[in-house]
Parts: sequence; C-alpha cells; structure tokens
Amino acid sequence: MKYLPIFLDATITPCLVVGGGVVAARKVKQLRKADAQVVVVAPELCPELSDLANEQLIKYVCSQFSEDHLQDKMLVIAATDDVAVNKRVSELAKEKKLPVNVVDNREVCSFIMPSIVDRGPVQIAISTGGASPVLARLLRVRLESLIPSSYGNLASLMKKFRTAVKEKFPDMQQRRRYWENILQGPIAEMIYAGQQELARNALEKTLSAEDDVVKQSGEVYLVGAGPGDPDLLTFRALRLMQQAEVVLYDRLVAPVIVDLCRKDAERIYVGKKRDKHTLPQTEITQLLADLAKQGKRVLRLKGGDPFIFGRGGEEIELLAAENIPFQVVPGITSASGCSSYAGIPLTHRDYANTCVFVTGHLKDGSMDLNWTTLIQPKQTIAVYMGVMCLEVLSHELIKRGLPKTIPAALIQQGTTPQQKVYIGDLATLPEIAKQHEIKPPTMIIIGEVVKLHESLSWFDV
Ligand code: SAH
Repeated sequence: MKYLPIFLDATITPCLVVGGGVVAARKVKQLRKADAQVVVVAPELCPELSDLANEQLIKYVCSQFSEDHLQDKMLVIAATDDVAVNKRVSELAKEKKLPVNVVDNREVCSFIMPSIVDRGPVQIAISTGGASPVLARLLRVRLESLIPSSYGNLASLMKKFRTAVKEKFPDMQQRRRYWENILQGPIAEMIYAGQQELARNALEKTLSAEDDVVKQSGEVYLVGAGPGDPDLLTFRALRLMQQAEVVLYDRLVAPVIVDLCRKDAERIYVGKKRDKHTLPQTEITQLLADLAKQGKRVLRLKGGDPFIFGRGGEEIELLAAENIPFQVVPGITSASGCSSYAGIPLTHRDYANTCVFVTGHLKDGSMDLNWTTLIQPKQTIAVYMGVMCLEVLSHELIKRGLPKTIPAALIQQGTTPQQKVYIGDLATLPEIAKQHEIKPPTMIIIGEVVKLHESLSWFDV
C-alpha cells in the first residue's frame, strides 16, 4: 500500500489553497464539504471563490504565494496554473513537514485526494494510488449506483440505538448478529424506502421483544422492471433484485432482466397472457403473502410500472391488510419507454399539451372508454394492450370526431433489440397491424406528435 488512507478532521486548523482559479475552487469545494477552515492565497479570484470570500466562508489573502502563508496550516494544496509556483509550494511545504497536494502532479504530492462516495456519516474513499483517476471515478460511479442514497440515514439510526443495543446484547457475538440481521432485513429497507418513522418503531420493537433472537420477518418488493431494456432499471430495482430470495415474474419481463436477479433466487413464473393467466391474480397475491410469512424476501417483478395497468395495487392490498412489510418501486412505463425509443415525444408545445394513457380491453366486442375525453384536440393518446381492439378503437375514434388522418404509430417490443415502429394514421393503422402481423406487447400512440418520429427517431436496431 503506497498511501495511508486516513479520515482527517479538517476543522481544527486552517487548510491552505494556493491559487484562485476554477481548479482551486474545486479543491476548496471539497474541503468545505468537510467543514474545513480554508485560506486561499492568490492575486485574484474566480467568481465562485470571490463569492465565498465575500460571504466570509473562506479567508482570502490577496497576494502572490510566499513561505509565510504556510504558517499554522494543517495541509496545503497547490492549485495554480503555474507549474513552477506549484513546485515551490510543494518544496516549502515538505520542508515544514506539511502534507501537500499539487493538482495534476502526483510526483510532488505527499498526499493525494480520493474519489468519494458520500453517504454521511458513511464515507467511502477510493484511490488507485494515482495510477488512474478515471478508474477511481468509474469505480465511484459503480458504488454510487449500488449503495442506496439513504445509507447515511441508516447509519444515523444505528448510531442512535447503539447504546440501547449494547445494553440488550452485552455479548459481542450476539450484538453483531443482531446488527447483521437489521442491516440486511426489512428495517434497513424501510430506511431506503424513506419510511424513517416506521424503521425507528420497528427497531425499538426488536429491542423490547422478549426473546433475544431477532426474528427475520419477510417482506415483499413490488418492482417495476421497465419496458424491456435492462438499462432502464432503477438502481433500487437492481439492488432489490439482487437481494430477494424468491422472484415472481410474468411474461412481460424480459428474460435478460430476470437474469439480473440473484443467481440462487427461486424463480416462479406467474405467466399472464391475455385471458390465460397462468396463476389467477388472487393466487399470486396469496403466494406473495405466504412466502413473506415464511420469512422470505420476495420480489414481485412486473413489466413497466407496477401502478400503471399492472394490477400492482391489487397485489399488495392483501399484504397491507396483513401487515406484511412491502415497498413499491416505480419503473419506466411502456408509454414513456416506447415514446422515447421511437422518437415520439408524448407532449410537445406545438402538437400536444395533454397525454392520456388508456387500456384497450375489449368487453363483448366493444370498448368501455370515455370517448369525449379521448377526442380532445392537442392530445396524445397512448394505448396499452390495444392490438386486439385496434379496429374497434380506430372506428370509434373516427366516428366520434377524431380526424381520420391524425398520425398514429405502433411500437412493438419497444426499447428492446426487437423494436419495430410502424407509422400510419388513425384510418390505416388496423390494416398496417394486420399486414405486419403485429403482436403484443405493442404500444399504440395516436396524435400529431407522431409526425416527429421522422426527424427524431434515433434508436436503430
Ligand atoms: N405496467 C405496464 C403495462 C402492463 S399492460 C407498464 O407500465 O408498461 C401490458 C401492455 O403494456 C402491453 O399490452 C403493451 O401495450 C404495453 N407494453 C409493455 N411492454 C411493452 C414494450 N416493450 N413495447 C411496447 N408495448 C409494451
């Protein structure tokens, strides 16, 4: 190990930054994040530093650098654009045994600054020993996506309960097991999901419980997997996918996405083809509840967004009634994913100021939709599950006053490598669908915005 990683309390003695430009400003910003006292020496300041000096958030010494400025400093950063000055700062600082960092010149540094993942009070500092700052940055981005943003809240809650837990579990082994259970269980998830109060109460309850062993209770994650492209998953979705022990998924979830779940997770296919549900809805709901009651972490993975034509609400009603912990993770809904990947904005100042999402289920050959709402001008209509009803839909909309020639699009398997986009108008769309044997999953978009596809299409498969 070439460098010793330490976490320094920089509030005690001032830190010196030599230089007044944007590079110096970046360093000052980093120092200020740690509440450091900062003194900047430079003949002039960039606007950002100048503002800080005016607000007295840093101390500004308007001068060329000289040896005296090193007096009573904790550390020094040389960030001028003059290589010779930076070098001199380094030499003098080293003479005085002061830690010194010189931007973009590792050779003359006695300390280097890491890439930081900040989840205050949790901090992760990353260094490649100066070998590749880009690598450090990429690693940081990776960690940023893996570590929930509310990790800091978790640490703060743990801190509050530290003494109480110590009293309850004097034995270190036991205490460790207790914390491990908490950190990997529903209480931590509550924090990540923003349920601070609930987490606190639950934690208190574990301490007041009679038995010393924390019972691991199960939980359910209702997660939106987006329309198909795995890159459209949220960080939270991915994290929960890698955490759950059981996964219930249906046909709409792309296999590449199911593959991202934990390798050893039990996978249960719960189907869902039109009118041919592999498992009836009530059984899916019951299964979720039963598995959670066995103490399992259960992932219910759904296409798009679970709360948009996804029956997500119905699936968690029973969980709510039975007090089974659950959380809902939104996903990119197909209308949104397909519109982006087809280059068809759902709204546009010239063409549409409203967008409605409807589902095209047929009931006895007709559709139960609010037609008056649908035939408004400057409106985009996104139709889910519309392939089977396309003819009826087109006929009804034209009959009720929507122009025949209004542009319309079919987007089949949107956002995936199999994406196909067909453009026509309201009158021709059913024929186009027949010609190309369009199958679900397909999104129908109707409205003037469809014209934009010609110029805005970007996703080539
Ligand atoms: N909850 C889902 C919708 C489920 S309904 C969501 O938010 O997206 C199923 C319908 O979604 C399909 O019939 C189809 O209209 C649409 N759909 C889902 N994935 C799609 C995709 N990749 N491309 C086009 N349409 C899709």
